[in-house]
Amino acid sequence: MLEQWVIIAANSAERPWSGSMATPIKSTQPEHDPGCYLCPGVTRATGSENPDYQGAYAFDNDFPTLAANAPDVNDASDPLFITNSAKGKCRVLCWSEKHNATLASINEQQMIDAANLWRNEYITLSADPTIAQVLIFENKGVEIGVSNLHPHGQIYATNFVTENATRMRSSFAQYTLKNKAPLLQTMLSSEPVQQQLMVEQCNHWSVIVPFAARFSYETWIIPHRAITSIAEASEEEIAELALCYQRQVRRYDALFERSAPNITLLHNAPCDNHEHNQHWGFHIAFHPPLRDASKMKFLAGFEAGSSNIVNPLMPETAAQRLRQLAQAG
Ligand SMILES: [Zn+2]
Repeated sequence: MLEQWVIIAANSAERPWSGSMATPIKSTQPEHDPGCYLCPGVTRATGSENPDYQGAYAFDNDFPTLAANAPDVNDASDPLFITNSAKGKCRVLCWSEKHNATLASINEQQMIDAANLWRNEYITLSADPTIAQVLIFENKGVEIGVSNLHPHGQIYATNFVTENATRMRSSFAQYTLKNKAPLLQTMLSSEPVQQQLMVEQCNHWSVIVPFAARFSYETWIIPHRAITSIAEASEEEIAELALCYQRQVRRYDALFERSAPNITLLHNAPCDNHEHNQHWGFHIAFHPPLRDASKMKFLAGFEAGSSNIVNPLMPETAAQRLRQLAQAG
C-alpha cells in the first residue's frame, strides 16, 4: 500500500547480536499519580484542571504540534524555499482514569468505550472543513520514548493529507478501479493470507500479519466489510473490534513478556473530499518496535538511508507464533 519494497532477511535474525537489549520493564506505577497531567483532578501546565473523569476521556493537547490558528506562511515563489502552513488540532485520548491501566488491563466495557471514543472523535474532527485527515494513534512504552505512562492515545487532525495516506489512497484507488474489488477484503480472502498470515478471524474482523510486514510482528486488523472509516462501523462491529483489538494487545504482552511497547495507527480515510477517498480501506496497524522480548528494532544505516525496511523475520513465522498465542487464549 505504500508502494515501497521491504527486504525479508530471515537469516539476519540469527546474526550475533551486540546491539541494544531491551530489558523487560515491570511497571510498578500507582493507580493515581498527582504529578501526571493526564490523571483525573490534576491541574495541567496551562492551568486547566482535569475533571474527575471515569473511563475514556478526550481533551485538546496543551502543547499541540499543530494549531488551527497557526500563521499563514504559504510561499512557493522560490522552488528552493517553498513554505506552507501546517495547521490542525491535536487531541489527547485517555483510555482510563487509572494511571497504571493499559488497553490490555481494562474491562470489556471500558475497551468498547475507548473504541467508541475513536469513532466519535473521527466523526467530529472529519466534519471540520479545515481538516483533511484525522490520524488516531497510540505511542506506548518507554522503549519508544514515551515519557508519560498514563494509558493514552493521540489524534493529529491536519489541514493536509500526510505522506503515507497519500501513497495509500493512490494504491487503494488504483487497485479498486482496475480490479473492481476492494483491496483489503480481496487480500484478506486470498490463499496466502488465509493459509499463512492469519492470526485471528472473528465475525466482522480479522487480525493478520501483512504480506510485506515492515516490523517483525506487525499486524493489521481488517474489517470483513469494506468501509472507509470507523464512522461506518456498526455498534456491533465496534464492540467486536474493541475486544479483538484488546486480545491482540494482550498477545503482544505475552509475546514480549511485559506491557509491550507499540505504535498503533487507525488508518481512516482522509476527509478532504478527494474523489479517491471512497476507495480507502479502513484498518488498524500495530508497529511493535521489538524484534523479540529482548531486542529493539532500530532503523539504522541502510534503512535510514534507503527507506527500504529490512524485516529479519518471515511474516509467515510471525503469524504462526501469534496464532499459537491466540489458540492458547
Ligand atoms: Zn496518570
